[in-house]
Amino acid sequence: MEKRTLIDSLNNNETEEIINYYKTAETDELCKKAASICENIHGKDIILRGLIEFTNYCNQDCLYCGIRKSNLSAVRYRIDKDEIIKTVMIGYNSGLRTFVLQGGEDPFYTSDRICRILEQIKKVTEYNASITLSIGIKSRETYKKFKEAGADRYLLRFETSDPKLYQKIKINSPFERRITAILDIKDLGYETGSGYMTGLPGETEDTRINNALLCKKLDLDMVGVGPFIPSNNTPLAESPKMPLEYSIRATALLRLLLPKAHIPATTAAGTIDPFGREKMVKAGANVLMPNITPVEQKKHYLIYPGKICLDENGNEIIKDLALRMSSIDRKITFSKGSALRFS
Ligand code: SAM
Repeated sequence: MEKRTLIDSLNNNETEEIINYYKTAETDELCKKAASICENIHGKDIILRGLIEFTNYCNQDCLYCGIRKSNLSAVRYRIDKDEIIKTVMIGYNSGLRTFVLQGGEDPFYTSDRICRILEQIKKVTEYNASITLSIGIKSRETYKKFKEAGADRYLLRFETSDPKLYQKIKINSPFERRITAILDIKDLGYETGSGYMTGLPGETEDTRINNALLCKKLDLDMVGVGPFIPSNNTPLAESPKMPLEYSIRATALLRLLLPKAHIPATTAAGTIDPFGREKMVKAGANVLMPNITPVEQKKHYLIYPGKICLDENGNEIIKDLALRMSSIDRKITFSKGSALRFS
């Protein structure tokens, strides 16, 4: 999709003004503006979502990803239903009220198995917790089943708004199929999340602007953006490492375009910069996703190298995040953090 087409289809002078401002503003100024909009709408609260990476088996072969099926050096694991429930309960007892179940596209986890897990999580948390799924493209029928079984939210990044680049990094999988899946998710009444990586090889500044415009066009409830980190044993291993600034500017632009959206300060940002997550929050992010996957397994969910928080358990990570946030005048909250259009 061309930028021009997107702007036209948004039919909105304000959007064009925001883009023009973004193009000329220094990063500091852009971030200050985005942070002030964020504070007006979301206050100083930073919402926590407990991330459980429950399988790193994947039948996809995305060029950028360390758990792609062709990476034979990846150590594979699956966390079974009982262990997932145990992990949720540890998180729940620490105060978490949102759980994000993320995984590779693992055929073992059939829709029936996922539904049984969703139902059980709802039951053990006495229907007090929200569940987000992030397990890739499924049929509309399957998304419907997940919703009926208790999934409240779905995360499916479009990865890049450039269809040609998408097709390249996803090995001929059509971009339109991804967008159709996101539209299905939205249409079925999920709180809908998507997003993209910044710094992919072949991406341009126009791509980055179009990425943000596509999020606006999709009117997302949640947008995750983070730097692409070249991963060992993948075809993109030798790609240049791009600066975190691309993700920081993207966060600020997204906050200007989608003031109400929930935007995480991503682990990838914290991986390439020790204060990456703080910088993302100062650019308008309002969510953090502590990785509460059992320590034994999480070191193997290596979508990129150098991932942080691999030796700490959920409680230790939450304590660390609380300190980090208070150092920048923010406060973690355990609220469910539902999409604002639902509250
Ligand atoms: N299989 C699901 C999917 O594709 O939506 C969820 C798991 S996938 C590993 C989660 C996200 O990891 C992807 O959407 C992608 O943006 C991110 N990711 C994968 N490899 C990455 C890399 N090398 N650098 C940064 N992010 C990466």
